[in-house]
Amino acid sequence: MTKPTTNTNRVTGPTGESSTEDLRVGARSAASGAADGPDKAAEAARATVGEQPWRITGDRLFDHNHECVGCGAHLSEPCHPACPFETGMFSLAVLLRAAARRLRENPAGVGYDISAAVFAAGLDLVGEHAAAAVADEAREVLTGYLIDTWGSGAEAIRTGVVYRHGLFTDLPEIALSLYAAAARHDGIDFDPDSFGDFSA
Ligand SMILES: [Zn+2]
Repeated sequence: MTKPTTNTNRVTGPTGESSTEDLRVGARSAASGAADGPDKAAEAARATVGEQPWRITGDRLFDHNHECVGCGAHLSEPCHPACPFETGMFSLAVLLRAAARRLRENPAGVGYDISAAVFAAGLDLVGEHAAAAVADEAREVLTGYLIDTWGSGAEAIRTGVVYRHGLFTDLPEIALSLYAAAARHDGIDFDPDSFGDFSA
């Protein structure tokens, strides 16, 4: 019996010869979708996010502490070999952290447009073809974090949680929540004391 597998050695396709790495499966299936037109490509993008990661195509990004949003290495140091900017493997946590520094340039009249900041960071990381799809996924992660933090009352306004958070929360607090949601998504502890002064 053949069980479901992500082993690309068993995946054959029009571009199959060029890659043997598991993490490229998502990009490849999206590419095959692109051949069928924009709608199919968008559908493929939604289907692959979270399961088959996108490739990071953008440059290394740093946070307000001048540390890599992928691995935490200071800008004066090289990235960890496992850093997403080294491996190219996209993660929603990296996107959420990268979005923090995009908040300031995405004001919302009152407060900040968090969704726009997340989308802008998505453009930086994965480019136009996947930015909307990864931004949707990241917003879901943030929504889940906020509902857990705010309590059951927030569940009733689920679709507006991120929007309200952007309007009614101070900038450093929004940034902190993005980092906390990222840590929660990765299953690691987040220490608010090491977050530093978010002024940029
Ligand atoms: Zn790094």
